[in-house]
Amino acid sequence: MEMQFKKIIDLKLNQKVVFIRSDMNVPVKDGIITDDTRIKASLPTIKYALDNGAKVIVATHFGRPREGECQMQDSVAPITNKLSQLLNIQINLISTMPNKIEFTNSNLVMLENVRCNVGEKSNSNELGKQYASLCDVFVHDAFATAHRKEASTDSIGRNAKEVCAGILMGQELDALSKVMVTPKTPVVAIVGGSKVSTKLTILSNLSDKVDVLVVGGGILNTFLLVMGYEIGNSLAELDLLNEAKQIIDRMTKRGAKIPLPHDVVVAKSFSADAVTTIKNINNLDDDDMILDIGPEFAKQVANIIEKSGTIIWNGPVGVFEFDAFSQGTKVIADSIANSKGFSLAGGGDTIAAINKFGIFDKVSYVSTAGGALLEFLEGKKLPAIDLLEQNGR
Ligand code: AMP
Repeated sequence: MEMQFKKIIDLKLNQKVVFIRSDMNVPVKDGIITDDTRIKASLPTIKYALDNGAKVIVATHFGRPREGECQMQDSVAPITNKLSQLLNIQINLISTMPNKIEFTNSNLVMLENVRCNVGEKSNSNELGKQYASLCDVFVHDAFATAHRKEASTDSIGRNAKEVCAGILMGQELDALSKVMVTPKTPVVAIVGGSKVSTKLTILSNLSDKVDVLVVGGGILNTFLLVMGYEIGNSLAELDLLNEAKQIIDRMTKRGAKIPLPHDVVVAKSFSADAVTTIKNINNLDDDDMILDIGPEFAKQVANIIEKSGTIIWNGPVGVFEFDAFSQGTKVIADSIANSKGFSLAGGGDTIAAINKFGIFDKVSYVSTAGGALLEFLEGKKLPAIDLLEQNGR
């Protein structure tokens, strides 16, 4: 079932007061913003509302202050200044929660750090009501917080007259919907990273949905062990063999594939200058560590990606930080970049790999959401999606 929710572009905003919950939680050092990506990413929704005649209240969380004890370093003032520069507009920063907003200098005001308000984290209905009373429309545009229920992301929406997704949120949900709700088949998921334990729910969920599941990184070793291969000194989780076996069995039963490599890249030590050898998976020594997939298998995965309608990528398939073990991840990155299918990639290490191999613009959608993306891939219902759907079209 497709997700049904209102987007900001569906609403008439003229003369309305619009409360936009953005994620402008940028890194700040000595009062200076060191990376303004999140502020820039929030601009389209703010601009859209202003251009369409709305009076706009914008709010974000910033850092981890203690509720009720907002200190100088917790203030969103540097963000307000940057936003003001980028939009070339005066923005009043409202330091304490008001009962009503006066738009005096411009049609845009910013609230102080929502995390300073008592009840924000616990999703207080009182606080949500207070936020909602300030506006006619609540616009949720902070996808990275979509897995949390807080007063400025959830209760506000339960109390607001109208609720919709902002432009960024809408794009993210459209991309997620394309891969998990109405994907073009065949669907391949590549899940790498160090441990099965951190990805178990994702692997489980994807194993019921995708046509091919490629496991890589340390995760692969546990799967190889289940299939009876000797993996030498490689990282593996013996306590998760059963879970890995169940995933293989479930996929095999419904005719889906979980291909395992014939060749792997091994070394005797986990270091950048280790001597690397490409070995057949049947020929590992006791002190060999698998640190990347081999070139033959990488080619096989590239072929699968090339023929796929949808590609989901989370996690490197080798220790890509060291050039000696980065080839497998590079081949996968390059084939995603060249693929005609719809590709979605995300997660901290995956974005680092995407940047390392310079393919950011060639992935159909790179999600920067972290936890929210992982929970979506785990098959959990995200509170933000629930809220938006309840206020659907
Ligand atoms: P994660 O934080 O779980 O997403 O895992 C990412 C990390 O897994 C990266 O830093 C990789 O270097 C590491 N990794 C990938 N392949 C392996 C492997 N075969 N053995 C150990 N670590 C790995």
